[in-house]
Amino acid sequence: MDQHGPYLREMGLTRWRFGSQSTDRTKFPSNKEQHFRDGSLKANLGNLAVLAREADGCRRCGLHRTRGKVVFGSGSAAARWMFVGEAPGAEEDKQGLPFVGRAGVLLGAMLNSIRLSRDDVYIANVLKCRPPNNRDPFGQEVRECAPFLHRQIDLVQPEIIVAMGRFAAQVLLDSDQNLVQLRGRPHNFGETSAPLVVTYHPAYLLRSPAAKSKTWEDLLLARSLLT
Ligand code: SF4
Repeated sequence: MDQHGPYLREMGLTRWRFGSQSTDRTKFPSNKEQHFRDGSLKANLGNLAVLAREADGCRRCGLHRTRGKVVFGSGSAAARWMFVGEAPGAEEDKQGLPFVGRAGVLLGAMLNSIRLSRDDVYIANVLKCRPPNNRDPFGQEVRECAPFLHRQIDLVQPEIIVAMGRFAAQVLLDSDQNLVQLRGRPHNFGETSAPLVVTYHPAYLLRSPAAKSKTWEDLLLARSLLT
């Protein structure tokens, strides 16, 4: 058992295996290091901050009337990994941060199980404002808000995207297939062609812990797609 055992247990997994990778190259390998050195990271941080301010004042859809705080995203602008969920919940709406509360704790365990922390990745939702009572987002809300997510992806330039839940997967892949049809195989995101893997949303895993082992398989698939 290695030091990641506790995180895997938190995910509800008691049997696991890591690949043969002995040196962790999943965080900031060559191209992202170059990205940092050439100054573009600094520019991207600035651009993300500008975009976050734009989202803070956004009134493009009706959700601005009921939101508490805009939940733009969090994490490293130099991240190789980007995790995308659906929309803020009640706690996120209060704190202005994605994936806090119980689902956030589980996401942290998922990240730790593949030797990552929240600081190593970038986390965002499709919608930046909470739908009242956590109802499903309306199509018009997605159309108005998705450009923020697309700009985030353009700026962070993740080398792997993990779509968490059916909704994020369908939006990112522009697909109407369900989660069972979409998970378990690699996809590519839009014009960037960044590899994309579909997995379960942590909130779903809290209700259906039996799916945690499949999520583990999805994370290993995602890691295998990193060069
Ligand atoms: S959900 Fe998106 S489009 Fe709608 S008000 Fe919030 S930031 Fe603007």
